[in-house]
Amino acid sequence: MNYTDGYTRTCGLIGNPVKHTMSPLIHNSLASMTGINMVYVPFEVKEKELKNAIKGAVALDIQGMNVTIPYKTDVIPFLEDVDPLAKAIGAVNTLVRTENGGFKGYNTDMTGLYHAMQDEGIELKDQTVVILGAGGVARPTAFLCANKGAKKVYILNRTFEKAVDVADEVNLALELNDSDEKVVPMLLGDYRKVLESEDSFIAIQCTSVGLFPDVNSAVIEDEEFYKKVSSAMDLVYRPLQTKFLKLAKEAGARTFSGLKMLLYQGIDAYELWNEDKGIKITKDQADEIYRSMMLEVVGASNIVLEGFMGSGKSTVSELLSEELMLELIDTDEVIEDTEGRTINEIFETEGEASFREMETDLLEAIDSDHWREFVISLGGGMPVKEENRELLRKIGKVVYLRAKPETIFERVKDDDKRPLLKTEDPLAKIKDLLEERAAFYEDVADMIIDTDGKTPLEITKEIIDKLGL
Ligand code: NAP
Repeated sequence: MNYTDGYTRTCGLIGNPVKHTMSPLIHNSLASMTGINMVYVPFEVKEKELKNAIKGAVALDIQGMNVTIPYKTDVIPFLEDVDPLAKAIGAVNTLVRTENGGFKGYNTDMTGLYHAMQDEGIELKDQTVVILGAGGVARPTAFLCANKGAKKVYILNRTFEKAVDVADEVNLALELNDSDEKVVPMLLGDYRKVLESEDSFIAIQCTSVGLFPDVNSAVIEDEEFYKKVSSAMDLVYRPLQTKFLKLAKEAGARTFSGLKMLLYQGIDAYELWNEDKGIKITKDQADEIYRSMMLEVVGASNIVLEGFMGSGKSTVSELLSEELMLELIDTDEVIEDTEGRTINEIFETEGEASFREMETDLLEAIDSDHWREFVISLGGGMPVKEENRELLRKIGKVVYLRAKPETIFERVKDDDKRPLLKTEDPLAKIKDLLEERAAFYEDVADMIIDTDGKTPLEITKEIIDKLGL
Protein backbone atom coordinates (compact mmCIF):
# COMPACT_ATOMS: atom_id res chain seq x y z
CA MET A 1 0.00 0.00 0.00
CA ASN A 2 1.33 3.43 -0.96
CA TYR A 3 2.14 5.76 1.93
CA THR A 4 0.52 9.17 1.53
CA ASP A 5 1.00 12.44 3.36
CA GLY A 6 1.00 16.18 2.61
CA TYR A 7 3.93 15.75 0.20
CA THR A 8 2.39 12.99 -1.91
CA ARG A 9 2.65 13.56 -5.66
CA THR A 10 -0.58 12.64 -7.45
CA CYS A 11 -0.72 11.29 -10.99
CA GLY A 12 -3.64 9.72 -12.78
CA LEU A 13 -5.41 8.50 -15.86
CA ILE A 14 -8.26 10.13 -17.73
CA GLY A 15 -10.39 8.22 -20.19
CA ASN A 16 -13.74 6.51 -20.51
CA PRO A 17 -14.05 3.71 -19.58
CA VAL A 18 -11.12 3.24 -17.15
CA LYS A 19 -12.48 0.54 -14.81
CA HIS A 20 -10.28 -2.27 -16.18
CA THR A 21 -7.07 -0.30 -16.53
CA MET A 22 -3.77 -1.84 -15.45
CA SER A 23 -2.05 1.55 -15.14
CA PRO A 24 -2.50 1.85 -11.34
CA LEU A 25 -0.74 -1.51 -10.95
CA ILE A 26 2.17 -0.25 -13.07
CA HIS A 27 2.57 3.19 -11.50
CA ASN A 28 1.85 2.40 -7.87
CA SER A 29 4.30 -0.52 -8.09
CA LEU A 30 6.92 1.74 -9.70
CA ALA A 31 6.38 4.34 -6.96
CA SER A 32 6.88 1.80 -4.23
CA MET A 33 9.93 0.24 -5.97
CA THR A 34 11.66 3.56 -6.56
CA GLY A 35 10.73 5.06 -3.18
CA ILE A 36 8.79 7.96 -4.71
CA ASN A 37 5.99 9.40 -2.60
CA MET A 38 3.38 9.20 -5.35
CA VAL A 39 -0.08 7.76 -5.92
CA TYR A 40 -1.76 7.04 -9.23
CA VAL A 41 -5.53 7.15 -9.60
CA PRO A 42 -7.84 6.47 -12.58
CA PHE A 43 -10.48 9.14 -13.34
CA GLU A 44 -13.43 8.34 -15.58
CA VAL A 45 -14.17 11.56 -17.44
CA LYS A 46 -17.31 12.27 -19.48
CA GLU A 47 -16.73 13.79 -22.92
CA LYS A 48 -18.22 17.17 -22.12
CA GLU A 49 -16.04 17.39 -19.00
CA LEU A 50 -12.69 16.89 -20.71
CA LYS A 51 -11.66 20.55 -20.67
CA ASN A 52 -12.79 20.91 -17.05
CA ALA A 53 -10.90 17.76 -16.11
CA ILE A 54 -7.63 19.25 -17.42
CA LYS A 55 -8.27 22.58 -15.72
CA GLY A 56 -9.18 20.76 -12.51
CA ALA A 57 -6.04 18.63 -12.68
CA VAL A 58 -3.93 21.79 -12.87
CA ALA A 59 -5.87 23.34 -9.99
CA LEU A 60 -5.36 20.22 -7.89
CA ASP A 61 -1.63 20.27 -8.68
CA ILE A 62 -1.72 16.85 -10.31
CA GLN A 63 1.79 16.23 -11.60
CA GLY A 64 1.14 13.90 -14.49
CA MET A 65 -1.65 12.19 -16.36
CA ASN A 66 -2.11 9.37 -18.79
CA VAL A 67 -4.78 9.80 -21.41
CA THR A 68 -6.60 6.86 -22.90
CA ILE A 69 -9.50 6.12 -25.25
CA PRO A 70 -11.32 8.25 -26.44
CA TYR A 71 -9.34 11.40 -25.58
CA LYS A 72 -5.83 10.91 -27.01
CA THR A 73 -6.48 13.45 -29.78
CA ASP A 74 -9.32 15.48 -28.29
CA VAL A 75 -7.21 16.54 -25.31
CA ILE A 76 -4.58 18.33 -27.44
CA PRO A 77 -6.37 21.73 -27.68
CA PHE A 78 -6.38 21.96 -23.86
CA LEU A 79 -2.62 21.53 -23.49
CA GLU A 80 -0.05 24.25 -23.08
CA ASP A 81 2.52 22.46 -25.21
CA VAL A 82 2.91 19.26 -27.25
CA ASP A 83 6.09 17.34 -27.94
CA PRO A 84 6.92 17.56 -31.70
CA LEU A 85 6.69 13.82 -32.27
CA ALA A 86 3.33 13.61 -30.50
CA LYS A 87 2.19 16.58 -32.58
CA ALA A 88 3.17 14.77 -35.77
CA ILE A 89 1.36 11.62 -34.62
CA GLY A 90 -1.65 13.72 -33.65
CA ALA A 91 -2.21 11.90 -30.36
CA VAL A 92 -0.87 12.12 -26.79
CA ASN A 93 -1.17 9.57 -24.01
CA THR A 94 1.01 11.23 -21.35
CA LEU A 95 0.73 14.71 -19.86
CA VAL A 96 3.50 16.29 -17.81
CA ARG A 97 3.08 19.46 -15.70
CA THR A 98 4.87 22.52 -16.99
CA GLU A 99 6.33 25.35 -14.92
CA ASN A 100 3.69 27.72 -16.30
CA GLY A 101 0.87 25.75 -14.74
CA GLY A 102 -0.36 23.67 -17.66
CA PHE A 103 0.40 20.30 -19.20
CA LYS A 104 2.72 19.23 -22.02
CA GLY A 105 1.60 16.21 -24.06
CA TYR A 106 3.82 13.31 -25.12
CA ASN A 107 3.22 10.04 -26.94
CA THR A 108 4.74 7.24 -24.89
CA ASP A 109 2.67 4.65 -26.82
CA MET A 110 5.27 5.07 -29.53
CA THR A 111 8.35 5.10 -27.31
CA GLY A 112 6.83 2.27 -25.24
CA LEU A 113 6.33 0.14 -28.33
CA TYR A 114 9.92 0.84 -29.34
CA HIS A 115 11.27 -0.13 -25.91
CA ALA A 116 9.14 -3.29 -25.95
CA MET A 117 10.54 -4.21 -29.36
CA GLN A 118 14.09 -3.56 -28.20
CA ASP A 119 13.45 -5.72 -25.15
CA GLU A 120 12.17 -8.55 -27.35
CA GLY A 121 15.01 -8.16 -29.86
CA ILE A 122 12.79 -7.06 -32.77
CA GLU A 123 14.90 -5.03 -35.21
CA LEU A 124 13.03 -2.66 -37.56
CA LYS A 125 15.94 -1.40 -39.65
CA ASP A 126 15.67 -2.50 -43.29
CA GLN A 127 12.70 -4.72 -42.48
CA THR A 128 9.32 -4.80 -44.17
CA VAL A 129 6.49 -4.25 -41.71
CA VAL A 130 2.81 -5.03 -42.20
CA ILE A 131 0.55 -3.07 -39.85
CA LEU A 132 -2.99 -4.40 -39.55
CA GLY A 133 -5.37 -1.56 -38.67
CA ALA A 134 -5.32 2.21 -39.03
CA GLY A 135 -6.91 3.34 -35.76
CA GLY A 136 -5.49 5.19 -32.76
CA VAL A 137 -2.63 2.80 -32.01
CA ALA A 138 -1.72 2.03 -35.64
CA ARG A 139 -0.72 5.65 -36.07
CA PRO A 140 2.21 5.76 -33.57
CA THR A 141 3.13 2.25 -34.72
CA ALA A 142 3.47 3.43 -38.33
CA PHE A 143 5.48 6.47 -37.23
CA LEU A 144 7.81 4.32 -35.22
CA CYS A 145 8.44 1.78 -37.98
CA ALA A 146 9.07 4.44 -40.62
CA ASN A 147 11.19 6.48 -38.23
CA LYS A 148 13.37 3.57 -37.14
CA GLY A 149 14.45 2.62 -40.63
CA ALA A 150 11.93 0.05 -41.82
CA LYS A 151 12.41 -0.50 -45.55
CA LYS A 152 8.69 -0.48 -46.25
CA VAL A 153 5.57 -0.21 -44.09
CA TYR A 154 2.21 -1.47 -45.34
CA ILE A 155 -0.91 -0.23 -43.56
CA LEU A 156 -3.79 -2.62 -44.16
CA ASN A 157 -7.20 -1.53 -42.97
CA ARG A 158 -10.83 -2.50 -43.43
CA THR A 159 -11.63 1.16 -44.17
CA PHE A 160 -9.17 2.08 -46.91
CA GLU A 161 -9.50 5.87 -46.43
CA LYS A 162 -8.20 5.64 -42.88
CA ALA A 163 -5.14 3.71 -44.05
CA VAL A 164 -4.53 6.43 -46.65
CA ASP A 165 -4.78 9.15 -43.97
CA VAL A 166 -2.24 7.48 -41.70
CA ALA A 167 0.16 6.73 -44.57
CA ASP A 168 -0.06 10.32 -45.85
CA GLU A 169 0.53 11.76 -42.40
CA VAL A 170 3.59 9.61 -41.76
CA ASN A 171 5.05 10.21 -45.21
CA LEU A 172 4.49 13.95 -44.79
CA ALA A 173 5.85 14.19 -41.27
CA LEU A 174 8.96 12.23 -42.14
CA GLU A 175 9.30 14.15 -45.39
CA LEU A 176 9.11 11.05 -47.50
CA ASN A 177 7.90 11.85 -50.97
CA ASP A 178 5.63 9.66 -53.08
CA SER A 179 8.48 8.14 -55.02
CA ASP A 180 9.92 6.70 -51.78
CA GLU A 181 6.67 4.83 -51.21
CA LYS A 182 7.80 3.98 -47.75
CA VAL A 183 4.39 3.85 -46.08
CA VAL A 184 1.84 2.20 -48.34
CA PRO A 185 -1.91 2.12 -47.58
CA MET A 186 -3.88 -0.93 -48.64
CA LEU A 187 -7.34 -2.37 -48.22
CA LEU A 188 -7.26 -5.19 -45.68
CA GLY A 189 -8.83 -7.64 -48.15
CA ASP A 190 -5.94 -7.05 -50.57
CA TYR A 191 -3.33 -8.60 -48.28
CA ARG A 192 -2.39 -11.17 -50.94
CA LYS A 193 -0.75 -8.34 -52.89
CA VAL A 194 1.76 -8.04 -50.04
CA LEU A 195 2.40 -11.79 -50.19
CA GLU A 196 3.10 -11.49 -53.91
CA SER A 197 5.75 -8.80 -53.47
CA GLU A 198 7.38 -9.63 -50.11
CA ASP A 199 9.27 -12.76 -48.99
CA SER A 200 9.10 -12.06 -45.29
CA PHE A 201 7.84 -9.35 -42.94
CA ILE A 202 7.16 -8.32 -39.36
CA ALA A 203 3.39 -8.22 -38.71
CA ILE A 204 1.98 -5.87 -36.08
CA GLN A 205 -1.69 -6.41 -35.22
CA CYS A 206 -3.24 -3.03 -34.32
CA THR A 207 -6.97 -3.75 -34.72
CA SER A 208 -9.30 -4.60 -31.86
CA VAL A 209 -10.10 -8.01 -33.44
CA GLY A 210 -9.24 -10.86 -31.07
CA LEU A 211 -9.75 -8.74 -27.96
CA PHE A 212 -11.53 -10.51 -25.08
CA PRO A 213 -14.28 -11.83 -25.34
CA ASP A 214 -13.91 -12.17 -29.14
CA VAL A 215 -10.93 -14.49 -28.61
CA ASN A 216 -11.52 -16.86 -31.53
CA SER A 217 -11.13 -14.27 -34.29
CA ALA A 218 -8.11 -12.95 -36.13
CA VAL A 219 -8.21 -10.12 -38.60
CA ILE A 220 -6.56 -12.40 -41.23
CA GLU A 221 -7.08 -16.15 -40.86
CA ASP A 222 -5.38 -17.28 -44.08
CA GLU A 223 -2.41 -19.56 -43.26
CA GLU A 224 -0.58 -18.32 -46.37
CA PHE A 225 -0.27 -14.90 -44.75
CA TYR A 226 1.38 -16.28 -41.62
CA LYS A 227 3.92 -18.35 -43.58
CA LYS A 228 5.69 -15.09 -44.47
CA VAL A 229 5.63 -13.59 -40.97
CA SER A 230 9.04 -13.58 -39.26
CA SER A 231 7.91 -11.86 -36.03
CA ALA A 232 4.34 -11.18 -34.99
CA MET A 233 3.29 -8.65 -32.37
CA ASP A 234 -0.32 -8.25 -31.30
CA LEU A 235 -0.95 -4.98 -29.47
CA VAL A 236 -4.01 -6.60 -27.93
CA TYR A 237 -2.97 -8.16 -24.60
CA ARG A 238 -6.27 -9.57 -23.30
CA PRO A 239 -5.88 -12.49 -23.93
CA LEU A 240 -2.10 -12.77 -24.04
CA GLN A 241 -2.30 -15.48 -26.70
CA THR A 242 -4.63 -14.09 -29.35
CA LYS A 243 -5.79 -16.08 -32.35
CA PHE A 244 -3.48 -13.91 -34.48
CA LEU A 245 -0.49 -14.93 -32.35
CA LYS A 246 -1.53 -18.59 -32.34
CA LEU A 247 -1.72 -18.64 -36.14
CA ALA A 248 1.66 -16.90 -36.40
CA LYS A 249 3.24 -19.28 -33.89
CA GLU A 250 1.89 -22.34 -35.70
CA ALA A 251 3.48 -21.02 -38.89
CA GLY A 252 6.85 -20.73 -37.10
CA ALA A 253 7.02 -16.99 -36.33
CA ARG A 254 8.33 -15.45 -33.10
CA THR A 255 5.31 -14.03 -31.27
CA PHE A 256 4.84 -11.19 -28.78
CA SER A 257 1.78 -9.80 -27.02
CA GLY A 258 1.11 -6.09 -26.50
CA LEU A 259 1.59 -6.34 -22.74
CA LYS A 260 5.20 -5.18 -22.87
CA MET A 261 4.20 -2.13 -24.87
CA LEU A 262 1.68 -1.32 -22.16
CA LEU A 263 4.39 -1.75 -19.53
CA TYR A 264 6.93 0.45 -21.31
CA GLN A 265 4.49 3.22 -22.23
CA GLY A 266 3.85 3.35 -18.47
CA ILE A 267 7.55 3.29 -17.59
CA ASP A 268 8.30 6.07 -20.08
CA ALA A 269 5.47 8.17 -18.61
CA TYR A 270 6.68 7.48 -15.07
CA GLU A 271 10.21 8.57 -15.95
CA LEU A 272 8.87 11.80 -17.51
CA TRP A 273 6.85 12.61 -14.38
CA ASN A 274 9.83 11.98 -12.15
CA GLU A 275 12.54 13.46 -14.35
CA ASP A 276 13.34 16.01 -11.61
CA LYS A 277 14.30 13.09 -9.35
CA GLY A 278 16.46 11.42 -12.01
CA ILE A 279 14.41 8.23 -11.99
CA LYS A 280 15.43 5.52 -14.50
CA ILE A 281 13.69 2.17 -14.26
CA THR A 282 16.04 -0.81 -14.42
CA LYS A 283 15.41 -3.96 -16.48
CA ASP A 284 14.93 -5.96 -13.26
CA GLN A 285 12.28 -3.52 -12.03
CA ALA A 286 10.54 -3.63 -15.42
CA ASP A 287 10.60 -7.44 -15.39
CA GLU A 288 9.12 -7.55 -11.89
CA ILE A 289 6.17 -5.38 -12.90
CA TYR A 290 5.73 -7.36 -16.10
CA ARG A 291 5.27 -10.55 -14.07
CA SER A 292 2.54 -8.89 -11.99
CA MET A 293 0.82 -7.71 -15.16
CA MET A 294 0.93 -11.18 -16.74
CA LEU A 295 -0.68 -12.73 -13.68
CA GLU A 296 -3.26 -9.94 -13.57
CA VAL A 297 -4.21 -10.63 -17.21
CA VAL A 298 -4.70 -14.35 -16.58
CA GLY A 299 -6.52 -13.59 -13.32
CA ALA A 300 -4.14 -15.44 -11.01
CA SER A 301 -2.55 -14.11 -7.83
CA ASN A 302 -0.49 -17.29 -7.54
CA ILE A 303 -0.12 -20.50 -9.53
CA VAL A 304 -0.83 -23.49 -7.30
CA LEU A 305 0.17 -27.03 -8.22
CA GLU A 306 -1.73 -29.91 -6.63
CA GLY A 307 -1.60 -33.63 -7.16
CA PHE A 308 -0.71 -36.93 -5.58
CA MET A 309 2.83 -37.63 -4.44
CA GLY A 310 4.91 -38.46 -7.49
CA SER A 311 2.73 -36.42 -9.82
CA GLY A 312 5.72 -34.21 -10.61
CA LYS A 313 4.74 -31.19 -8.51
CA SER A 314 8.24 -30.49 -7.16
CA THR A 315 10.08 -30.69 -10.48
CA VAL A 316 7.36 -28.95 -12.47
CA SER A 317 6.94 -26.16 -9.91
CA GLU A 318 10.70 -25.52 -10.03
CA LEU A 319 10.65 -25.35 -13.82
CA LEU A 320 7.54 -23.18 -13.76
CA SER A 321 9.07 -20.74 -11.29
CA GLU A 322 12.22 -20.50 -13.43
CA GLU A 323 10.29 -20.08 -16.65
CA LEU A 324 7.90 -17.41 -15.27
CA MET A 325 10.49 -15.84 -12.95
CA LEU A 326 8.19 -16.30 -9.96
CA GLU A 327 9.31 -17.33 -6.50
CA LEU A 328 8.58 -20.89 -5.44
CA ILE A 329 6.95 -22.07 -2.22
CA ASP A 330 6.75 -25.75 -1.35
CA THR A 331 4.18 -26.05 1.46
CA ASP A 332 5.78 -29.22 2.87
CA GLU A 333 9.14 -27.44 3.06
CA VAL A 334 7.63 -24.35 4.70
CA ILE A 335 6.00 -26.53 7.38
CA GLU A 336 9.19 -28.51 7.95
CA ASP A 337 11.19 -25.26 8.28
CA THR A 338 8.64 -23.67 10.60
CA GLU A 339 8.35 -26.76 12.79
CA GLY A 340 12.03 -27.67 12.68
CA ARG A 341 11.03 -31.29 12.02
CA THR A 342 10.48 -33.51 9.01
CA ILE A 343 6.97 -34.45 7.91
CA ASN A 344 7.79 -38.05 8.86
CA GLU A 345 8.58 -36.88 12.39
CA ILE A 346 5.39 -34.78 12.61
CA PHE A 347 3.32 -37.79 11.47
CA GLU A 348 5.06 -40.08 13.97
CA THR A 349 4.83 -37.76 16.98
CA GLU A 350 1.54 -35.90 16.45
CA GLY A 351 -0.29 -37.83 13.78
CA GLU A 352 -1.75 -36.87 10.42
CA ALA A 353 -4.59 -34.70 11.77
CA SER A 354 -2.14 -32.37 13.41
CA PHE A 355 -0.14 -32.05 10.19
CA ARG A 356 -3.33 -31.23 8.29
CA GLU A 357 -4.02 -28.42 10.79
CA MET A 358 -0.59 -26.99 10.06
CA GLU A 359 -1.41 -27.06 6.34
CA THR A 360 -4.64 -25.12 6.94
CA ASP A 361 -2.79 -22.54 9.05
CA LEU A 362 -0.31 -22.02 6.24
CA LEU A 363 -3.03 -21.54 3.61
CA GLU A 364 -4.79 -19.06 5.91
CA ALA A 365 -1.56 -17.10 6.25
CA ILE A 366 -1.04 -17.06 2.47
CA ASP A 367 -4.59 -15.80 2.01
CA SER A 368 -4.76 -13.22 4.79
CA ASP A 369 -1.26 -11.82 4.18
CA HIS A 370 -2.03 -11.53 0.44
CA TRP A 371 0.98 -13.51 -0.77
CA ARG A 372 1.08 -12.88 -4.50
CA GLU A 373 3.04 -14.00 -7.52
CA PHE A 374 4.34 -17.31 -6.27
CA VAL A 375 4.35 -20.77 -7.70
CA ILE A 376 3.01 -22.84 -4.80
CA SER A 377 3.61 -26.57 -4.71
CA LEU A 378 1.08 -28.21 -2.37
CA GLY A 379 1.43 -31.21 -0.12
CA GLY A 380 -0.43 -34.14 -1.70
CA GLY A 381 -3.24 -34.34 0.90
CA MET A 382 -3.86 -30.60 1.17
CA PRO A 383 -7.06 -30.40 -0.96
CA VAL A 384 -8.84 -33.20 0.93
CA LYS A 385 -10.18 -30.79 3.57
CA GLU A 386 -13.04 -28.65 2.32
CA GLU A 387 -11.72 -25.70 4.33
CA ASN A 388 -8.43 -25.99 2.43
CA ARG A 389 -10.15 -26.17 -0.94
CA GLU A 390 -11.99 -22.95 -0.17
CA LEU A 391 -8.74 -21.24 0.74
CA LEU A 392 -7.04 -22.61 -2.38
CA ARG A 393 -9.72 -21.09 -4.60
CA LYS A 394 -8.90 -17.71 -3.08
CA ILE A 395 -5.13 -17.84 -3.35
CA GLY A 396 -4.63 -18.61 -7.03
CA LYS A 397 -5.16 -20.69 -10.14
CA VAL A 398 -5.04 -24.36 -9.15
CA VAL A 399 -3.41 -26.79 -11.57
CA TYR A 400 -4.00 -30.51 -10.93
CA LEU A 401 -1.16 -32.71 -12.14
CA ARG A 402 -2.94 -36.02 -12.72
CA ALA A 403 -1.16 -39.36 -13.03
CA LYS A 404 -2.18 -43.02 -13.11
CA PRO A 405 -1.42 -45.10 -9.95
CA GLU A 406 1.10 -47.23 -11.87
CA THR A 407 2.96 -44.10 -13.05
CA ILE A 408 3.02 -42.76 -9.50
CA PHE A 409 4.26 -46.08 -8.13
CA GLU A 410 7.15 -46.12 -10.61
CA ARG A 411 8.09 -42.57 -9.67
CA VAL A 412 8.05 -43.01 -5.86
CA LYS A 413 8.77 -46.69 -5.19
CA ASP A 414 12.38 -46.07 -4.10
CA ASP A 415 11.62 -42.99 -1.97
CA ASP A 416 11.63 -43.90 1.74
CA LYS A 417 10.66 -40.39 2.88
CA ARG A 418 6.95 -40.90 2.14
CA PRO A 419 5.16 -41.76 5.41
CA LEU A 420 1.94 -42.84 3.69
CA LEU A 421 3.74 -45.50 1.66
CA LYS A 422 5.24 -47.32 4.62
CA THR A 423 3.09 -50.34 3.92
CA GLU A 424 3.33 -53.88 2.54
CA ASP A 425 1.64 -53.11 -0.76
CA PRO A 426 2.40 -49.48 -1.75
CA LEU A 427 0.70 -49.76 -5.17
CA ALA A 428 -2.58 -50.84 -3.57
CA LYS A 429 -2.23 -47.99 -1.05
CA ILE A 430 -1.62 -45.51 -3.89
CA LYS A 431 -4.72 -46.80 -5.71
CA ASP A 432 -6.87 -46.48 -2.57
CA LEU A 433 -5.63 -43.02 -1.68
CA LEU A 434 -5.89 -41.77 -5.22
CA GLU A 435 -9.46 -42.98 -5.49
CA GLU A 436 -10.22 -41.19 -2.25
CA ARG A 437 -8.55 -37.94 -3.29
CA ALA A 438 -9.18 -37.64 -7.05
CA ALA A 439 -12.61 -36.01 -6.64
CA PHE A 440 -11.15 -33.40 -4.25
CA TYR A 441 -8.28 -32.57 -6.63
CA GLU A 442 -10.73 -32.22 -9.50
CA ASP A 443 -13.18 -30.17 -7.45
CA VAL A 444 -10.69 -27.39 -6.74
CA ALA A 445 -8.74 -27.52 -10.02
CA ASP A 446 -8.90 -24.65 -12.51
CA MET A 447 -7.13 -26.91 -14.97
CA ILE A 448 -6.15 -30.58 -15.15
CA ILE A 449 -2.94 -31.74 -16.81
CA ASP A 450 -2.44 -35.45 -17.48
CA THR A 451 1.20 -36.14 -16.80
CA ASP A 452 1.58 -39.82 -17.79
CA GLY A 453 4.28 -40.24 -20.41
CA LYS A 454 5.22 -36.56 -20.40
CA THR A 455 8.52 -35.01 -19.32
CA PRO A 456 8.47 -32.27 -16.63
CA LEU A 457 9.42 -29.73 -19.31
CA GLU A 458 6.51 -30.78 -21.52
CA ILE A 459 4.15 -30.50 -18.56
CA THR A 460 5.52 -27.06 -17.68
CA LYS A 461 5.06 -25.80 -21.23
CA GLU A 462 1.52 -27.20 -21.32
CA ILE A 463 0.64 -25.32 -18.11
CA ILE A 464 2.09 -22.05 -19.43
CA ASP A 465 0.23 -22.53 -22.67
CA LYS A 466 -3.09 -23.35 -21.01
CA LEU A 467 -2.77 -20.43 -18.62
CA GLY A 468 -2.28 -18.27 -21.72
CA LEU A 469 1.01 -16.87 -20.39
P1 NAP B 1 -9.39 2.11 -32.70
O1 NAP B 1 -8.87 3.49 -32.90
O2 NAP B 1 -10.82 1.94 -32.34
O3 NAP B 1 -9.10 1.29 -34.06
C1 NAP B 1 -9.63 0.01 -34.27
C2 NAP B 1 -9.01 -0.60 -35.51
O4 NAP B 1 -9.50 -1.95 -35.60
C3 NAP B 1 -9.41 0.09 -36.81
O5 NAP B 1 -8.35 0.01 -37.71
C4 NAP B 1 -10.59 -0.74 -37.27
O6 NAP B 1 -10.81 -0.71 -38.65
C5 NAP B 1 -10.12 -2.13 -36.88
N1 NAP B 1 -11.22 -3.08 -36.74
C6 NAP B 1 -12.15 -3.11 -35.77
N2 NAP B 1 -12.99 -4.16 -35.97
C7 NAP B 1 -12.58 -4.77 -37.12
C8 NAP B 1 -13.03 -5.90 -37.84
N3 NAP B 1 -14.07 -6.61 -37.42
N4 NAP B 1 -12.35 -6.27 -38.95
C9 NAP B 1 -11.28 -5.55 -39.37
N5 NAP B 1 -10.81 -4.48 -38.72
C10 NAP B 1 -11.45 -4.08 -37.61
O7 NAP B 1 -8.58 1.33 -31.59
P2 NAP B 1 -7.02 1.53 -31.18
O8 NAP B 1 -6.91 2.59 -30.17
O9 NAP B 1 -6.21 1.64 -32.42
O10 NAP B 1 -6.72 0.16 -30.44
C11 NAP B 1 -6.74 -1.09 -31.13
C12 NAP B 1 -6.38 -2.19 -30.14
O11 NAP B 1 -5.01 -2.02 -29.75
C13 NAP B 1 -7.18 -2.09 -28.84
O12 NAP B 1 -8.20 -3.03 -28.87
C14 NAP B 1 -6.20 -2.35 -27.73
O13 NAP B 1 -6.42 -3.66 -27.22
C15 NAP B 1 -4.85 -2.34 -28.39
N6 NAP B 1 -3.96 -1.33 -27.76
C16 NAP B 1 -2.91 -1.79 -27.07
C17 NAP B 1 -2.03 -0.90 -26.48
C18 NAP B 1 -0.85 -1.44 -25.72
O14 NAP B 1 -0.24 -0.68 -24.96
N7 NAP B 1 -0.50 -2.68 -25.90
C19 NAP B 1 -2.24 0.49 -26.59
C20 NAP B 1 -3.35 0.92 -27.32
C21 NAP B 1 -4.21 0.01 -27.89
P3 NAP B 1 -11.75 0.44 -39.30
O15 NAP B 1 -10.87 1.64 -39.40
O16 NAP B 1 -12.11 -0.12 -40.63
O17 NAP B 1 -12.91 0.63 -38.40
